[in-house]
Amino acid sequence: MIDIRSLVLVVNCGSSSVKFGVFAGTGREPLLSALAENLGQPESRLVVKEKGEKTEISLDGGSHDVALQKLLGILDQKGWLSSVVAVGHRMVHGGERFTASTLVTDEILREMDALSNLAPLHNPANILGVRTAMAALPNVPHAAVFDTAFHTTMPQAAFTYAVPQDCYRNLGVRRYGFHGTSHRFVAAEAIELLGLDPNDHGLVIAHLGNGASATAVLNGKSVDTSMGFTPLEGLVMGTRSGDIDPGALFHIAREDGLTIDELDTLLNRKSGLLGLSGLSNDCRTLENAEKEGHEGAKLALDVFVHRLARYIGGLATSLDRLDAVIFTGGIGENSATMRQRTIDRLAVLGLKLDAETNGQMFGGRCGVITSKDSKAAAAVIATNEEWMIAHDTLEAVATSTAA
Ligand code: ADP
Repeated sequence: MIDIRSLVLVVNCGSSSVKFGVFAGTGREPLLSALAENLGQPESRLVVKEKGEKTEISLDGGSHDVALQKLLGILDQKGWLSSVVAVGHRMVHGGERFTASTLVTDEILREMDALSNLAPLHNPANILGVRTAMAALPNVPHAAVFDTAFHTTMPQAAFTYAVPQDCYRNLGVRRYGFHGTSHRFVAAEAIELLGLDPNDHGLVIAHLGNGASATAVLNGKSVDTSMGFTPLEGLVMGTRSGDIDPGALFHIAREDGLTIDELDTLLNRKSGLLGLSGLSNDCRTLENAEKEGHEGAKLALDVFVHRLARYIGGLATSLDRLDAVIFTGGIGENSATMRQRTIDRLAVLGLKLDAETNGQMFGGRCGVITSKDSKAAAAVIATNEEWMIAHDTLEAVATSTAA
């Protein structure tokens, strides 16, 4: 029996979309989730998912506030609204200021606003979500959970770019890392799954979704990660290039006369799996196309695996010992082929795949996918960022009540 007396609403607000999740107490699966899309456009809609059933509601061109009000109306109809004890918000960028999740106050909102220049695409939308939800639910605490917070433990050598240090001191140019909430959740799950000592272990976690990043975790702490000043650095992603020689950008800009905004679009929206394949940003589509002989799809997946294996190998050098490589995110959790191709490349580190168990891990199943004689393990762990946000929110509330 689920206890619905204390519900946490999780809000992940983007510029034209909002994801909601409603969690009961410590329950790991949301009682209800919803996705509002195309906000501010005539076709804006809210898709609500509950017990596997989807309902679509038009928002009549409405924006974030309309989506939130619709969702709150649904919670009210169910008699759940008065049980919402806290709201947790996903924040992309917490800079160096936010090293952990925190309750939102006017002062904290001002500080979050001040960080918007570091993440102009994401933070203003996140903050809009916080303000909208605080106006709609003024009597419950709101917490902010930062994508960057987990990586604030990176040592200086890992977070520093080799540019004149005025760029860091005056402009905040350094590596921050992202996907931290997912990496933190998966790191804790890995300790459980593999029976590791919480104070003595080394992991490399590959979060492979539309965005992709890999992180080295030493004794529970992030010590290096593939994303940098923005989520553009590092691995090949759905539409993002990941690493590219900045010299190539000077060349493209000079030769093709691209503006900075056009370069931004080229690297963030037209590159990655999509740009390489000329077909799709979706790994599943590319796997199918590759089987039918599509050369662009093969190239895209080959480059993806090459870069990933190179990063995993490089990140392992920030550890004392590599206990395990963990795969998560839509691709990491579901694609046996991409895991197999990556682990084959990691034979140099002594990793050996167990093809049978690898083939069994999809759709949320978690487990080890390497053979007994593999030098380090590899495992699949399903991420759950939304629950992590709900969990942090309850903790932040408990800490403030205890203080
Ligand atoms: P987001 O970063 O948007 O949350 P997801 O974590 O849902 O994205 O990952 C989306 C990616 O996962 C897509 O590239 C999709 O093709 C891939 N994916 C999902 N299921 C499979 C599968 N069975 N085989 C290969 N790729 C898959």
